[in-house]
Amino acid sequence: MSTQETRTRIVWDYAPAPESPEHVRLRDSYGLFIDGDFRAPLDGTMVPSINPASEETLAEVAFAGEEDLRRAVDAARAAQPGWAALSGLERGKYLFRIARLIQERARELAIVESMDGGKPIRESRDVDVPLAAAHFFHYAGWADKLSYGVAGRDVAPHGVAAQIVPWNFPLLMAAWKLAPALACGNTAVLKPAETTPLTALFLAEICQEAELPPGVVQVVPGDGSAGAALVRQPGIDKVAFTGSTGVGKDIQAALAGRGIPLTLELGGKSANVIFEDAALDQAVEGIVNGIFFNQGHVCCAGSRLLIQESVADVVIGKLWERMGRLRVGDPLDKNTDVGAINSREQLTRIQELVSAGEEEGAVRRSVACELPERGWWFAPTIFTEVAPAHRIAVEEIFGPVVSVLTFRTQAEAIQKANNSAYGLAAGIWTDKGAKAFEVASALQAGVVWQNTYNHFDPTAAFGGYKESGFGREGGPAGLRAYLKVS
Ligand code: NAP
Ligand code: MG
Repeated sequence: MSTQETRTRIVWDYAPAPESPEHVRLRDSYGLFIDGDFRAPLDGTMVPSINPASEETLAEVAFAGEEDLRRAVDAARAAQPGWAALSGLERGKYLFRIARLIQERARELAIVESMDGGKPIRESRDVDVPLAAAHFFHYAGWADKLSYGVAGRDVAPHGVAAQIVPWNFPLLMAAWKLAPALACGNTAVLKPAETTPLTALFLAEICQEAELPPGVVQVVPGDGSAGAALVRQPGIDKVAFTGSTGVGKDIQAALAGRGIPLTLELGGKSANVIFEDAALDQAVEGIVNGIFFNQGHVCCAGSRLLIQESVADVVIGKLWERMGRLRVGDPLDKNTDVGAINSREQLTRIQELVSAGEEEGAVRRSVACELPERGWWFAPTIFTEVAPAHRIAVEEIFGPVVSVLTFRTQAEAIQKANNSAYGLAAGIWTDKGAKAFEVASALQAGVVWQNTYNHFDPTAAFGGYKESGFGREGGPAGLRAYLKVS
């Protein structure tokens, strides 16, 4: 063999780079965090929280029953007048402390987030945890300036906020909910998702370390029935929900006629629109980030890829080649791009929709990669020859699956992008500034990214149109949901 041949045969690969979970202070079991302490459930049960990458139990977690929820709401009620009576500056100091403690425990939180939910450590370390801290910092700054956030009008907190979050960004969604609620003088009862309660419980520990007055924050893990019971509790003054559109509708029905303000952050089927004049290599990176970030378990995922016909073959070719280099596997490995699917149920949902796509005639390609034997996994997948009426073009898959549609003109791109019951986010890739603004203003989407995707910032409002919900989180707009404004 010549030297030339030997050289070209060298295959560069990554050495395993696992993050060690050894220093993580995970307890064997967690009670319900009510009135400043972890308490055994009165009528609830203990349920294991599972690592979706290994199917191993991480800890036993108390699930709240009806009596427990009542106790949590009572504690929040009792604490609320005192919390609201503190000056904004004092409330801000507590939020600031919580933000600092999240930073101090950042590594631990990132590891637990990846173990409990399956997302790559690279993401929990670089996105979820720093953004959670940033949200507390941001709203710490607002706490003594509330009326400036609402055009100088008089403000008052609602009272007790019931907050329900999903499993895809457990710590970050808890931060999105708690930080503005607390800054505005509300107290809170937070229900994390049943598959990912652990980082919310860590956040409860952080509230203790920050010496937050007891009763200001309650964390009550449980399943969907606990969420349903929480929004039906007497004694709540505000509901904030992030999750699926179906459950959002159920909550809206439960609150009808009760005069309780509601914000809903629901699902999406967001369009990522690639024009022929875009920088195509960057666009491909943006497509990958848009749909494979967090295994596609992202409400604003760019799951409907709209490519201008003239460049469709080139973009799909480059995308497929790039997808082949995604590393799927151990969420705790720092080189992993795509981790585990959050639960067996979610994997089944993804498989069901992918089969529907094949049956309806779209062309499926999944990356050939070795998937671990235990745990729940799904290889990055692309569908081409998708018709707008196919289920995979209409329904949220919430997995690492992208559906490609094409368009010829700008008008057609806008029409196709808006052809959805949802309206959460969109991406536009073009090197023409005027085109980007023109298209952005015609899109029915709460967030429109230009030449980027999935960028989040605590100063920017996030939220949807149509079946993606209403109300905004983040920035001064996020204060509105937690204030009575007169
Ligand atoms: P989900 O079933 O709606 O669950 C969300 C939360 O609601 C969980 O804590 C869940 O508990 C709870 N819940 C379930 N049934 C309930 C009921 N009848 N009443 C009150 N609460 C109830 O959603 P998911 O499937 O877990 O999450 C994925 C969905 O969330 C996707 O559709 C995604 O687009 C959406 N999402 C939206 C945003 C956004 O900002 N717009 C962000 C993230 C996710 P269990 O965990 O026990 O089911
Ligand atoms: Mg779990």
